Amino acid sequence: MSQPNTIYFDNNATTRISPSVFEAMVPFLTEHYGNPSSAYRIGRTVNSAIETAREQVATLIGCQPKEIIFTSCGTESDNTAIASALQTTGRNHIVTSTVEHSAIKSQTEHLERLGHGVTRLPVAADGTLTVQQVEQALRPDTAIVSLMWANNETGVLFPVEEIAGLCASRGVLFHTDAVQAVGKIPVNLAASKIDLLSISGHKLHAPKGVGVLFARRRKVAPLLLGGSQEKGKRGGTENVASIVGLGQAALEACEKMDEENTRVRALRDRFESTVLRLIPHTGVNGHATQRLPNTSNIAFHAVEAEALLILLDQYGICASAGSACTTGSLEPSHVLRAMGVAKEQALGSLRFSFSIYNSEDEVDRSLALLPGIVSRLRAETPSAAALKARMDAGENITAGLNLEFKA
Ligand code: PLP
Repeated sequence: MSQPNTIYFDNNATTRISPSVFEAMVPFLTEHYGNPSSAYRIGRTVNSAIETAREQVATLIGCQPKEIIFTSCGTESDNTAIASALQTTGRNHIVTSTVEHSAIKSQTEHLERLGHGVTRLPVAADGTLTVQQVEQALRPDTAIVSLMWANNETGVLFPVEEIAGLCASRGVLFHTDAVQAVGKIPVNLAASKIDLLSISGHKLHAPKGVGVLFARRRKVAPLLLGGSQEKGKRGGTENVASIVGLGQAALEACEKMDEENTRVRALRDRFESTVLRLIPHTGVNGHATQRLPNTSNIAFHAVEAEALLILLDQYGICASAGSACTTGSLEPSHVLRAMGVAKEQALGSLRFSFSIYNSEDEVDRSLALLPGIVSRLRAETPSAAALKARMDAGENITAGLNLEFKA
């Protein structure tokens, strides 16, 4: 199923569908084609598969199946949580952070333009923030506090359980974008004060285009108005095969959680510590321990991350740079900039994110390449534009690279 010779270290961008997830989905793309809202047998079969998936997801996050609302993606779940809070509370103010994913960032910017109050909490140099910061930001008109559980770029974790406790004691709704957390670290909503929580299927080996919004006691106003699907909380015929896939992925995530926290963590730690040891002028962005077990965001001094990505891609290694290329110029990651990382360092930072499908051998092979690639770029062509120009001129940019791994 995987591309030959691909070493995929970009599991925070998306994950491969697990074989058992694919298998579980196929019947719902073929023989079980009924509409789950139909009363006849083939509809009822499909409906009961959705209910099984609901139970599987509920087990993964320790909530009641009836508190699970299936959506089309993490972005829809995030948008629904905030829009619903504004509507149900009639209040006007949102507390969030400077390092949220664009799913929250773009929505809160839009709401601000419409006249809503938005407080964006700053983070420390290691990407963390405190409960006290949240406490100081609360206002009588605060409708919702929305803070991510785990940052997609650095893996840094926010103390969401404590923040949820604070919000509950102050009568303010608390939402967490847990898209990067669910499946990687234990989440148990039974003993939690979190009101709303977002999940995205494709981050935990289920397909793209399916998500979940957990809403305590289903207290949520729908974003999509339509039929009575999801008990009227989300209109639109369900993406049945993907929902079934997400259920299976949740089941597997329960079984593989220990592996994520031991083997995957060990892979990440070995990769990271070896890079720091072998390559001078490198450092980790984000808190050393208050972090997801699978994520490593590494700054390579005096190299453009885009150039590094191009060369890594020549060897089939996939990682990602937080920076985005807008109108020809590189924009540094807003997350790293919010942590106070200098622009040059942010532009030289790469995220490596691992999964249970990665192996020791892949880590060894990439560690064999990385030091040579970085020193060549530093010596010859630190910028992505210059590297692209050399490639366009027909030069073999990987010729003569030192590929020896000396651990
Ligand atoms: N929130 C976080 C933290 C994410 O990392 C992502 C995806 O990268 C999303 C939300 C959006 O999820 P989706 O791609 O399912 O819309």
